[in-house]
Amino acid sequence: MNILSFGSLNLDKVYGVEHFVRPGETISGLSMEEHCGGKGLNQSIAIAKAGGNVWHAGCVGQADGAPLLNALSESGVDVSLVRQLECPSGHAIIQVDQDGQNCILLYGGANQQVTPEQIDQTLAQFQPGDLLVLQNEINNLAYLMQAAADRGMTIVLNPSPMNETILSLPLHLVSYFLLNEVEAQELCGEDKDETQYPQLLLERFPNSRIVLTLGSRGSIYQDAHCRIEQPSYKVKAVDTTAAGDTFTGYFLASVSKGMDIAEALDKASKAAAISVSRHGASVSIPTPAEVEAFDP
Ligand code: ATP
Repeated sequence: MNILSFGSLNLDKVYGVEHFVRPGETISGLSMEEHCGGKGLNQSIAIAKAGGNVWHAGCVGQADGAPLLNALSESGVDVSLVRQLECPSGHAIIQVDQDGQNCILLYGGANQQVTPEQIDQTLAQFQPGDLLVLQNEINNLAYLMQAAADRGMTIVLNPSPMNETILSLPLHLVSYFLLNEVEAQELCGEDKDETQYPQLLLERFPNSRIVLTLGSRGSIYQDAHCRIEQPSYKVKAVDTTAAGDTFTGYFLASVSKGMDIAEALDKASKAAAISVSRHGASVSIPTPAEVEAFDP
């Protein structure tokens, strides 16, 4: 089956500073790096690296969107459904001080310009049963979910960042919730032992499948028929930045190829373990051959 990842594309501008800029002050940055990011971009790249057939849909700016499109295409993501608009791409201005603390100004830009017309035209390219992968960094999500459900697509939601918007969505349409314990707690509205969240979520959304990731404590899958507790693989962790995205990419690519859930979870855990043993974000996502060769 094919995968449509409809989500955010962000340019992250990271400035090293002596201290954060104060009101009325002008300071010089000590360093500057620019990265392609956004939850949508990261997950699309992870799915493609894991071998999934993935199209990204969303919006970038006409003038500044080229690096985002390049980052996706270089990783094997089809970008023919991304629109280029006369507005800035989504971006974040990030100051990192000498203690490693950061402060972030996020501007949604083109990510907030998704229209019902774009959604209808995009979904028309997909078949019933194809996967639609969503996070919470674009606008018109409720419309998108309803239109995809009407088309018979399988909706995957990573409810991140978790906020009021998520709670207002037609969550009963979601087939797979992929979430961490903080998101699970907020979605349940109850503070419980983390291992109870899959069952609680299933009681609220009986037709869904829950995939709860718990960092180095592993992950739990639960649906109406079965529960699988997948331990993590022990590695020397040096950078956990892309762990969640790597897990998501491998889990969804595996499911899209018809692999059974237990096998998909195992593959996703191996891939995520490899990614935490390496530095960097998308560069730390392993190839399928590396996952195959992983010997814990
Ligand atoms: P992030 O948003 O930082 O990418 P997340 O909160 O979405 O992460 P996590 O639950 O931290 O995702 O991690 C996803 C999966 O990655 C875990 O279920 C586990 O399989 C693997 N993982 C994470 N941390 C480690 C670790 N230290 N050692 C081994 N595997 C890990």
